[in-house]
Amino acid sequence: MGSLDLSSVDSSSPQREFKPLDPEEFRQHAHKMVDFIADYYKQIETFPVLSQVQPDYLRNRLPGAAPYLPESLDTILTDVTNHIIPGMTHWLSPNFFAFFPATVSTAAFLGEMLCTSFNAVGFNWLASPAATELEIIVMDWLASMLKLPKSFMFSGTGGGVIQNTTSEAILVTLVAARDRVLRAKGTDAIQKLVVYCSDQTHSTFTKAAKLAGISPRNVKSIPTDLDTDFALSPVLLRTVVEADVATGLVPLYVCATVGTTSTTAVDPLEPLADVASEYGMWMHVDAAYGGSACICPEFRHYLDGIDRVDSLSLSPHKWLLCYLDCCCLWVKNPSLLVKALSTDPEYLRNKASESDSVVDFKDWQVGTGRKFKSLRLWFVLRSYGVANLQSHIRSDVRMAKMFEGLVKSDSRFEIVVPRWFSLVCFRLKPLSWSGSGNTEVLNRELLEWVNSSGSVYMTHTIVGGVYLLRFAVGATLTEEHHVVAAWKLIKEGADAVLKGVRN
Ligand SMILES: *Cc1c(COP(=O)(O)O)cnc(C)c1O
Repeated sequence: MGSLDLSSVDSSSPQREFKPLDPEEFRQHAHKMVDFIADYYKQIETFPVLSQVQPDYLRNRLPGAAPYLPESLDTILTDVTNHIIPGMTHWLSPNFFAFFPATVSTAAFLGEMLCTSFNAVGFNWLASPAATELEIIVMDWLASMLKLPKSFMFSGTGGGVIQNTTSEAILVTLVAARDRVLRAKGTDAIQKLVVYCSDQTHSTFTKAAKLAGISPRNVKSIPTDLDTDFALSPVLLRTVVEADVATGLVPLYVCATVGTTSTTAVDPLEPLADVASEYGMWMHVDAAYGGSACICPEFRHYLDGIDRVDSLSLSPHKWLLCYLDCCCLWVKNPSLLVKALSTDPEYLRNKASESDSVVDFKDWQVGTGRKFKSLRLWFVLRSYGVANLQSHIRSDVRMAKMFEGLVKSDSRFEIVVPRWFSLVCFRLKPLSWSGSGNTEVLNRELLEWVNSSGSVYMTHTIVGGVYLLRFAVGATLTEEHHVVAAWKLIKEGADAVLKGVRN
């Protein structure tokens, strides 16, 4: 190997001096990107909602290595159009009725732009005082919109923090509850700690328990059934807890849900809190989806009893017009979070933190670094006001009610569980001469028929052994005519599937 030939390096290097953040180039490219995004939103209905590509589709379309020389934004955007968009399932499509939709808004996008542009890594107060202080203010604002008691607010005795997802909200509260008990009973007691949920609780609860070191056999999933609309029964909870205590186990934590993922069932908080407090358990309420509705007075009763619980989480990325990811967690006793999660390395030490006069949010979460996410919520709350946010929720519920009415008007279908929010759970009725197995097959065929059309995307679930279809209204762009068109398509699907049966 000879010495490096500089002339050849020069000729193959970028001509200009490399400036990754040139403000003028940023302005020009970002304007172009905003146009690209606005056009995407405008055309979104022209794409199949559910992506139709096969696994590994992208490997054959893109080069195997990164380019040595720079490529232009235009070239890259062309590839986005040709290769990325076809591989997208369009969550923002007005014809997206699957899972729970992910809501977005112009205001949240603008807040997100600002959040990203500052790139503040606000782990403690000093690292960006505004990031911490705005989060405190916005969490209190949202708490008062939800009529949470002062015991959850910074202006009272508690406080709130923005986590990434519900999984983390559950994990950090579980760890706080665990450490409180282990401080009293000794670390060996970890094997005896038991946590409770229902068979409708989000699967992330089991994952959080595992991460928190709870023995898998001590994660008790209490069965629910159609008679109680799949809500967690306080009577059953008490029975299971009593039996555990009798064998020397230690009840630690119960997770209730307001708006379960399968059917939006609502667990009765008040009587569950009776059991929790009697046995000294931490009670958490997971209201990831349903909680947002409680900013409307007519839905607030779903949170009755909230003053009796230890923590509540709700994800504005699900129904309150915020982009992923944004999960709001309120706790009554923040010092338990801090005790369990605080770190104190020399390189983060500063007077403000040591004087205990500030909140250091790194001690309320899993990671250290954190984004300035409260900007999004602040933009949303200010740009729309509580009035518009309430009418946004009501409009989704109204459209879901309308869909429910359409389903009821067709005798081939039935509503399987009551509609609480903006999710309708329904299915093709069992045919008188066919078994329950056939009913499931027919409904599976119907779902496949609808989704493969590319015009609508819905998902399914199974509760109490019943296979049902979920129609979740809530994508930000959805309007009444999209719901009507979706129903028309579902009816056509039913015609096709049932015709197959008769022949
Ligand atoms: C969607 C959902 C979750 C998961 O929420 P993320 O915040 O998106 O992680 C948890 N619990 C319930 C009830 C949900 O509906």
